Amino acid sequence: MKKDSNIPYKIYLEESEMPKAWYNLRADMKNKPAPLLNPGTLEPMTYEELIPVFCDDLVKQELDDTTPYFEIPEEIRNFYKMYRPSPLVRAYCLEEKLGTPAKIYYKFEGNNTSGSHKLNSAIAQAYYAKKQGLKGVTTETGAGQWGTALSMACSYFDLDCKVYMVKCSYEQKPFRREVMRTYGASVTPSPSMDTNIGRKINAEHPGTTGSLGCAISEAVEVATSNPGYRYVLGSVLNQVLLHQSVIGLETKIALDKYNIKPDMIIGCAGGGSNLGGLIAPFMGEKLRGEADYEIVAVEPASCPSFTRGKFAYDFCDTGMVCPLAKMKTLGADFIPAANHAGGLRYHGMSSTLSQLYEDGYMKAVAVTQTDVFAAAEEFARVEGILPAPESSHAIKVAIDEALKCKQTGEEKTIVFGLTGTGYFDMVAYEKFHDGLMTDYIPTDEDLEKSMSKLPKVDK
Ligand SMILES: *Cc1c(COP(=O)(O)O)cnc(C)c1O
Repeated sequence: MKKDSNIPYKIYLEESEMPKAWYNLRADMKNKPAPLLNPGTLEPMTYEELIPVFCDDLVKQELDDTTPYFEIPEEIRNFYKMYRPSPLVRAYCLEEKLGTPAKIYYKFEGNNTSGSHKLNSAIAQAYYAKKQGLKGVTTETGAGQWGTALSMACSYFDLDCKVYMVKCSYEQKPFRREVMRTYGASVTPSPSMDTNIGRKINAEHPGTTGSLGCAISEAVEVATSNPGYRYVLGSVLNQVLLHQSVIGLETKIALDKYNIKPDMIIGCAGGGSNLGGLIAPFMGEKLRGEADYEIVAVEPASCPSFTRGKFAYDFCDTGMVCPLAKMKTLGADFIPAANHAGGLRYHGMSSTLSQLYEDGYMKAVAVTQTDVFAAAEEFARVEGILPAPESSHAIKVAIDEALKCKQTGEEKTIVFGLTGTGYFDMVAYEKFHDGLMTDYIPTDEDLEKSMSKLPKVDK
C-alpha cells in the first residue's frame, strides 16, 4: 500500500475549524441564475409573493444573489456538531484495488440517522420556521430521504411535519415511512384524496402510483391553505444549495489543512443540492479566476436533465402551482421509466447549476443503473461503506476517471461526494444481484413528448 505518511485515512476537523457561515455561490457568478417567475404574470416572483409559501428568512436567502456569506445561526451549528464534521476519507483501499496512481477522496454524508446530506438543509429550514413562530411545515418525499431528514429536524425544534410521499415509495419503502413516524411526522401517500390537486390527479389517472411533481403540488396546497404552515423543499432551490455549502466548505478546509489541491470534483445530481454544496467554494475560486478545477455532475441515463434536457423555463411540479424556474429540464411531465431504481429522478436541475453548466464551468456525464450498481458493489467491498444508489453515480465516474489515470500514469487528485448510505435500498440491490435490473434510456421521441409541453416564456 502506497499510503502517504502524513495523510490520514480520515480527515476530521476540530470543532473550532468548522464553517461559521454558508457560502452563496451566486454572489460570484457574472451570469446570475434566472429569477423564479410567477406562472400567472411571468414576472419575477417578489418577496411578498413568496412569503405565503416559504418561510420569510428562506425567501430572503432564495432571492439574494449578491451576499457571499450568510452566518450559520448558533442553534444550527449546535445541531451540526452532533453529526458534523463529516469525514473526508482517502480511499486508499479502492486506489489499491484499482491499481491507479490517482488519489481518491470522498466526503461521506451518510453518518446520521436520515442517512444522507439532506439533514444539512432540513435543520436550517426547520430552524427558520420555528424562529418565525410557525406551527409546522409540509413537504414531499420520493424515496424518503428528504422526508426522514425533515422529520428529524422538525422533532428537534418541536414543529409539526406533514409529508406527502410518492405512493409507490410509500408502499415499497415501509421502513423509511416508519422512521418518519418515529420522529413524529404524519406521512400521506400521494396523490391523496385530501387535496384538490390530489383528487384531480386521481380522477385523471386512476391507479397512479404518483410522482414527485405531484407530491410537491399537494404539499404546497396544504401549506398555503393552513394558517401557520409553510412549504419546504429538499433540493433544487438556491436556499438549499446555500445550506449544503457546508459540505464543500468542510471539504476545502480539510484539504487545505494538508495542502491537497484537487484536480477533479465529482458529484451525483438529482436536483443539484449536494453537488452545488460540495463544489461551492471551489467553483467560487474558479469564478473569481483564482484556481481551476474540473467539475463533473453525474446523472442517470434514464433521467438525463443536464445532458439531454432543454435550458428553459419550466414548472417545478405537475400541478403547475409553483413558480417557473429556468433550468435544464426534461419537462415537468417527464417520469423516468418504471425500471429506474437508482434515485435522482427529478425532471429539472437547480437554476444555479444549470447556468454554470451552460456557461461551461462544469460538465456532466450520464451513466446507466447497472453500471452504477456494479460500481457501488466494488466500492462497498473494499471501502466498508454500503453506498446509496444515488451516491454510487459519483462512485462510478470516480472509478472511471481513476482507471483513465492508470492508463496515462497521471496522479490526479479526485474528490467525490458520497451522499448517503444504501441500507434502505436493498430491494434495488437485490434486483441487481438477481440479474433482474435493466437499463432503460429514453429515446429522443420520449423526451420530446414531455419537452414539447414546456411553457412558452420569452426570457
Ligand atoms: C436526495 C439525494 C441525492 C440527490 O439530491 P441532490 O439534491 O441532487 O443532492 C443524492 N444522494 C442521496 C443519498 C440523496 O438522498
